[in-house]
Amino acid sequence: MKVELISYTPNPIEAIERAASTCYDSMPTGGKIMRHCYRSGHHSVLEFADFSFKISGVSRALTHQLVRHRIASYAQRSQRYCTEDGFEYVTPRSIAKDEQALARYNETIEVIKKAYEDLLANGVPAEDARMLLPNACCTQICVKMNLRALIHFCNERLCACAQWEIREMARLMVKAVVEVEPALAEFLVPKCEAHAPHSFCTESKSRSCGRHPLIGDVVSKKSN
Ligand SMILES: Cc1cc2nc3c(=O)[nH]c(=O)nc-3n(C[C@H](O)[C@H](O)[C@H](O)COP(=O)(O)OP(=O)(O)OC[C@H]3O[C@@H](n4cnc5c(N)ncnc54)[C@H](O)[C@@H]3O)c2cc1C
Repeated sequence: MKVELISYTPNPIEAIERAASTCYDSMPTGGKIMRHCYRSGHHSVLEFADFSFKISGVSRALTHQLVRHRIASYAQRSQRYCTEDGFEYVTPRSIAKDEQALARYNETIEVIKKAYEDLLANGVPAEDARMLLPNACCTQICVKMNLRALIHFCNERLCACAQWEIREMARLMVKAVVEVEPALAEFLVPKCEAHAPHSFCTESKSRSCGRHPLIGDVVSKKSN
């Protein structure tokens, strides 16, 4: 998996604070106004900074989940206009670590590859032959999110309940953003840490990773 930050709003915090300052007749403060807006729910100002990523070596299973995030822009490698002969594919760790499962997985992929290529060779258009392609098939996608959407994406997809591949991609997106603007790290967190220092898990007991107390426990302790 490769995640590249291909473009972004220069000085994103200043861009956000410049917009927010219009509301308060103030001047950018180096992060104070932005933090205040974030904490108070004035989130529309976070839309004034954009981040574009190029993502490759991920599965179609991942991108199907990614594009459910509607407040973003996408451009994905087409399986109609590009052919996928000899496609690369993602192998989950749960399969890679089991010799038998891995052999079964690889041999099935090889059968699919052969059938796909046979259909193309017989004149079937790529848009129809692709019906055979697996979720594991690697793809490339460009995604642009503003900071508000990126924070929401991280809240959902850095959570231990998110699927491992999209969680890994979210982690790499955060790494790339924090490299250019370290002060954004505190906002690009799983939802359990979105209200730090008051961290709590909103998942059920059986799904919670245990990193933070369950919201029910926090609330009942406070009301006792
Ligand atoms: C752990 C996990 C498990 C999941 N499991 C499933 C599953 O089993 N099946 C499934 O179908 N999906 C599943 N999803 C996907 C999930 O339901 C969302 O589609 C996805 O996370 C995108 O979230 P979103 O709609 O909040 O984001 P976005 O589409 O980016 O929207 C961001 C925010 O904008 C606002 N918004 C956007 N569009 C509208 C609208 N039309 N009306 C009102 N407000 C809007 C909302 O506040 C929303 O939170 C899962 C997601 C996660 C993280």
